[in-house]
Amino acid sequence: MQAGFGGLERDCLVCGMPHALSRPDIRDRHRQPVCDKCDSPLFEASDGSTEVIDIAHQHETVAEALVKFEEALQYFWGLHYTQQLRVITGGGRIRDALLAELNFLQQQGTVLDVLSENRGAVRVVIRRE
Ligand SMILES: [Zn+2]
Repeated sequence: MQAGFGGLERDCLVCGMPHALSRPDIRDRHRQPVCDKCDSPLFEASDGSTEVIDIAHQHETVAEALVKFEEALQYFWGLHYTQQLRVITGGGRIRDALLAELNFLQQQGTVLDVLSENRGAVRVVIRRE
């Protein structure tokens, strides 16, 4: 799936046409490329899936936890069609720091919605259905 030189192959989820692209940054989602054949945005389409990531239970510091989240966010944006991330945060400082970061990312339009699922998990919507 992943090509060399930081590039990747990505199929249009609407018509199936493959494209060779450079690896995207979710912060540039408003400038994402569109399909050569059907003009659909190549990173916006969702397969409806949810991925679970745990950023708080490997003795992470707050800084390490935020890096883990950032890496997961970019990974599932660039290489998958994931609709939402269920982030296991625990109930402490990591959760507070992540919620502050997510508040900023939502204001920027980088993530679409943030839902506090329970005291230890947050749902982050990165694509519409
Ligand atoms: Zn297409």
